[in-house]
Formats: sequence, structure tokens, C-alpha cells
Amino acid sequence: MAKVVVLRMGHRINRDKRVTTHVGLVARAFGADGMIIANVSDASVETSIRKVVKNWGGEFFVESGRPWKTVVEDWRRKGGMVVHLTMYGLPVDEMIDRLRGREILVIVGGEKMPGEIFKIADFNVSVGNQPHSEIAALAIFLDRLFYGSELKKEFKNGKMRIIPTEKGKKVEIRT
Ligand code: SAM
Repeated sequence: MAKVVVLRMGHRINRDKRVTTHVGLVARAFGADGMIIANVSDASVETSIRKVVKNWGGEFFVESGRPWKTVVEDWRRKGGMVVHLTMYGLPVDEMIDRLRGREILVIVGGEKMPGEIFKIADFNVSVGNQPHSEIAALAIFLDRLFYGSELKKEFKNGKMRIIPTEKGKKVEIRT
């Protein structure tokens, strides 16, 4: 079973492609194993993320279309825990020690979330108590969860790798 998977709720095919793609890219870059887009199928978001995985490496998966409750129930059945990121939840810094090392389904929302999620989640966790963004909340949550070590993660089998430089861009292309 994957260790940390993001469940993206509230995706609207006509309006949210960019934001949902960024949720997926942040999930991948910050150490999650995959993203599931709930309820609606969006092949174009899936394709964009898979293209990044192919070019830049790693094992990240993306899927879309399964009803959110089925995803949550399946996850629970396998023994995983469900964390919902929301401005109304308990502070991330108070909760994070209990979550480390567990298999976590991290739910992030869009404009409006079904009220049921607040009850179904094992933990409702806030990243500050101001409204901001699913992308920012996810990045900070994962960074806290992994103690920042995710930024040093090696993404294997990619076609490209950046050689960090003081100025300019250096990219190693693997053949
Ligand atoms: N009223 C929403 C809420 O419950 O957090 C804000 C909606 S915001 C446009 C979309 C998503 O961003 C939320 O569903 C939540 O996952 C995430 N989010 C926004 N602010 C957050 C915060 N302070 N802490 C944790 N998650 C947050």
C-alpha cells in the first residue's frame, strides 16, 4: 500500500485543471506517492502529471473518477488513516507527531466540501486558521510530515535532472 496519497476533492473539469495539476505536482515533489481526483474523470490532468513523472522520474501515480467515499472506505479497509486539511481543523504542529509513519490519505478540497468529510476524517488538520489554498496547505503539511527531507528525495529513472547552479540553468539529460 502506498504510504501517502492525496485525495483531491471538488475538481471542476472546466475551471480547475491548473490548480488540480499543481496539487498533483506538489504532492509528487513533496514526497506523496500518488493523487486521486475524486468523482470526476479528467484525462488531461492525468496526462500532464504523467508527463512530468516520465521526464523527471519517480513512482508517482495519478487516477481520477472514483467516488470519494469509495476511496476513503478502501483506504480504511487496508488500515490507512484519513486526514482532512481544513482551516477549521486542529493545528498541524499539534497533530503531526501522531501522523508520522502512518499510511495517510490526505484530503484537500476546493470551494465547498461535503460536511460529512469533517466527521469521516480521523483528523481535521489546519495549516493556520486563515483561508488560503489547497496547494499551500498540502505543501506545508507534507513538509512538516517528512521533516523537510522530501526536498532531498531522489527521483529515479527520469529523463532530466537539474544540476543546481548559482546562476542560469543546468539540466542533465539522460539517454
Ligand atoms: N473553507 C475552506 C476550508 O475548509 O479550508 C477553504 C476553501 S480553500 C479554497 C480549498 C481547500 O484548501 C480546502 O478545502 C482545504 O483543503 C485547503 N485549505 C485552505 N485553507 C486551509 C488552511 N488554513 N488549513 C488547511 N487547509 C486549508
